[in-house]
Amino acid sequence: MSDTNTWIDLRSDTVTQPSQAMRAAMAAAEVGDDVYGDDPAVNRLQDFAADLFGYEAGMFAPSGTQTNLIALMTHCGRGDEYLVGQEAHTYKYEGGGAAVLGSIQPQPIANQPDGSLALADIEGYIKPDDMHFARTRLLALENTIGGRVLGQDYIAAATSLAHARGLATHLDGARVCNAAVKNGVSLRDAVKGFDTVSVCLSKGLGAPVGSVLLGPKAFIEQGKRWRKMLGGGMRQAGVIAAAGQHALQYNVQRLAEDHENAADLARGLAEIEVLKVTPPQTNIFWMDLPAAACEPLRKALADAGIRATVGPRMRLVTHLDVSRDDVVKVVAAFKTFFKDWRA
Ligand SMILES: *Cc1c(COP(=O)(O)O)cnc(C)c1O
Repeated sequence: MSDTNTWIDLRSDTVTQPSQAMRAAMAAAEVGDDVYGDDPAVNRLQDFAADLFGYEAGMFAPSGTQTNLIALMTHCGRGDEYLVGQEAHTYKYEGGGAAVLGSIQPQPIANQPDGSLALADIEGYIKPDDMHFARTRLLALENTIGGRVLGQDYIAAATSLAHARGLATHLDGARVCNAAVKNGVSLRDAVKGFDTVSVCLSKGLGAPVGSVLLGPKAFIEQGKRWRKMLGGGMRQAGVIAAAGQHALQYNVQRLAEDHENAADLARGLAEIEVLKVTPPQTNIFWMDLPAAACEPLRKALADAGIRATVGPRMRLVTHLDVSRDDVVKVVAAFKTFFKDWRA
């Protein structure tokens, strides 16, 4: 079980392997030096993504951490503040980059059980114009968040509130394509209300690397300065941009299969009495299991060729490289283990 392609990997949707068709697109990419703006494949991806989501311009960068940070640093200056969820990736999982590298103060707000930020909380945390306070500049939301999808009505209300109070709006849309497919709306409608959006190409969309930041032309131009400073100015990046383009062209609608597979997997696991499964909305779901089972389960799954982040509260993720057959195998492996397991 040493070949990465034979594992069933439920740790994340970042683990996907580029398909043969994607590799062919990468090999065929016409490239140039993107710091000079000369890479045709990068330019094509940026224009394609901007049009697809309904923005003026786009910027390709190596990671979603970087596109989010560039967005925060372009929206906010030193001593400014952004409103963000306690569980949000930009706040919790990006090394504090906004504060460390951007001199931006995060104002974290408790996420509601559905992943949203309560409108009253948003309103309440916007600081008055007073020298004691950081200047509240931006509301940043995330969709999907921990696999949960924000409702379209909620997004409209939250972004309208922010704009009415003079704030800009940014979406960490690492998995916004999953959200759009789940809500049955176009990509343009899924991002309506957000001045800027960061989209990961390397999650469920299946590209090996890269994210795009989308927004107004002047904003993207300003953001390119930060990208260069952060080390994200890439040269013949068309080789990877072509993979991202392929991902956006062919791998968006099929996310519905990942959602179905997650639902099937969750249903199968829920038949095991000691597991407490939260039914999935998209391709990510959570499950509680007895702490004492974790260590032996980890071994049993590895022996069955299954990679998972096993813990008392564990996250399971389906993606392009998890098939229906794989789901059946995983359910069987869990059932075999728990048939014999006693606390
Ligand atoms: C993965 C992810 C990012 C960006 O991650 P990178 O690994 O830096 O590309 C941002 N936000 C969310 C919600 C993510 O899941």
